[in-house]
Amino acid sequence: MHSANGVAFSYNELNHKLDKKVERKIMQHKEEWMKTPLELPELPYAKDALAPVISEQTIDYHYGKHHKAYYDTTKTLVKGTELEGASLEEIVEASGKDPSMKKLYNNAAQAWNHNLYWKQFAPVGKGKMPAKLETLFKENFGSVEDFKKKMVEEGVARFGSGWAWLVVDDGKLDVYSTPNGDNPWKDGKFPVFGLDVWEHAYYLDYQNLRKKHLEEVLDKIVNWDYVLELIDRYIGQ
Ligand code: MN
Repeated sequence: MHSANGVAFSYNELNHKLDKKVERKIMQHKEEWMKTPLELPELPYAKDALAPVISEQTIDYHYGKHHKAYYDTTKTLVKGTELEGASLEEIVEASGKDPSMKKLYNNAAQAWNHNLYWKQFAPVGKGKMPAKLETLFKENFGSVEDFKKKMVEEGVARFGSGWAWLVVDDGKLDVYSTPNGDNPWKDGKFPVFGLDVWEHAYYLDYQNLRKKHLEEVLDKIVNWDYVLELIDRYIGQ
């Protein structure tokens, strides 16, 4: 995203500026970004809307049990601490900087990561890629297919559990992966799309075929309008 004079900020720089209340426009963005309550969000589609790429059974477990548990654990861990009442983003930020809060970070970051994960999907056949996003992928990766290939490669190469991300980094799009539940903010990058490569994301539907799962997600169920909306938020219109 850009300040009024067009300079991109890292998340930490942004917070530094926010804390000093130096720029009204940035403050408004904070109001928009940093307010997610500690409540499991509703799914934006029916539980069978992503099938067969992500089955209803997988959503029952992945959303209904895993995502819910990340929220439940986060709520339990902040109760009675100075972070009680803070937004999810504030908890991710604070716990990510303090090694003694690793368990809280893991759960809060995973709660946030899965909020993005479910919101970035659309029912099979509904997610048409806007021309503007195609152009951005061409500029940053060579082609849409090259972007998808890079995402899949990052996801397949991630040993064990983690995520492959499309991020805005220094005003440009990039792809990389993180281990376990880590969120790209701690690397100064802004996540706009994430592929969950934990086995709970695909094993019921694809067993060991992680690569095939990732390819089908990218080809069939992404809400590209939403991805572009997030990119615009961080890069500017
Ligand atoms: Mn997951």
